[in-house]
Amino acid sequence: MDIRQELANWLEFYRELGVEEFYRRTPPAAAPSPPTRDARPAQAAPGEGAVRAPAAKPGFETQPVAGAAAAVSPLPGRASQAVFAAAPIRPPAPSLSLFDAPAPKPAGPETLEQIRADLGDCQRCKLAGGRRNIVFGEGNPHAELVFVGEGPGADEDEQGLPFVGRAGQLLNRMIQLIGMKREEVYICNVVKCRPPGNRTPEKDEMETCSPFLFRQLEAIQPRLICCLGAPAVRTVLGIKEGITKIHGQFYDFANSKALATVHPAYVLRNPREEKILREDFEKIRKFLKGQ
Ligand code: URA
Repeated sequence: MDIRQELANWLEFYRELGVEEFYRRTPPAAAPSPPTRDARPAQAAPGEGAVRAPAAKPGFETQPVAGAAAAVSPLPGRASQAVFAAAPIRPPAPSLSLFDAPAPKPAGPETLEQIRADLGDCQRCKLAGGRRNIVFGEGNPHAELVFVGEGPGADEDEQGLPFVGRAGQLLNRMIQLIGMKREEVYICNVVKCRPPGNRTPEKDEMETCSPFLFRQLEAIQPRLICCLGAPAVRTVLGIKEGITKIHGQFYDFANSKALATVHPAYVLRNPREEKILREDFEKIRKFLKGQ
C-alpha cells in the first residue's frame, strides 16, 4: 500500500479513538520501532508507564493499549504537529479479536459429553497422580434415577466405569429388585478418580470435583437422586448427620428429589444392614411409580 494511504489509515484509526494530536519523538531513535506498545511523546513525564486497558473479563486477554491513550498530549491545548519518525506504520492489532475470544458457552443445558470434554485429562486435584482412568459416570443420560457414590475403587479405576466391583454387583441386584435395569439409571460418584488405597475422598478433592457432579445432575435432570454413603450425602444435600439417621427420607435438590441410603460397600462389611438398603430401595420404587 502507498505510504500516504497507510499514513491516512493510521491517522483515521487514531481519530476514531479520539486521539488527534501527535508529537515527534526526540531525539529520533536510531532504529525506530513501530508505534505500537510505546508511542509516548518525548515530553512524557518521567516514570510514566504504558497505559493498560481496563480490567478484562476473565478469560479475555488484557493487553497494554497500543498507542492510543499513550499518545494523548500530556499538555492539553498546546498546539502541535502530527509529525512521525520514519517507522513502519501499521494500525495496531485490536487487543481482543473475535477469533481469540473463548468459544461462547452453548445456550441451554449442557450435555454429558460436553461436561466430560471439559473435564478432559483432569489434573485439578492430587487424585490425578494416582489414577489409571477417570471414572466419569455411566448410564442413561435421561435417567429418572441417578445414583451418586463416593469415588472409584480399584476395579472402577481399572475399567473406567462406576460400580463394577463387588459393591457394584450389590447395587445391580438392588436395581433389579425394584424392577429396573442398570442401563436405565445413571451412576456416578462425587470424585472421578480413585483415592489411594480406597480412602475416603478429602474435602479439597470433593470440592474440586463436585462441580462436575452438579453439572451432570443438571444435565440429566433426574426425578430422584440416590446418595450412596456419607460423602455423597454431604456433597449433594449438605447434611452431616449420620446416614443411619436420615436414610430413606426425601429431600429437595433443585428440580429433583434426593434420598440417602447406606453405601453398598458398607452393607458388604455389615451384611445385617442390607435391610436398610432394601427398605430404601422400596421407597425409591414407590416414588418412581408415583405411589
Ligand atoms: N464405590 C463407590 O463409591 N463408587 C464406585 O464407583 C465404586 C465403589
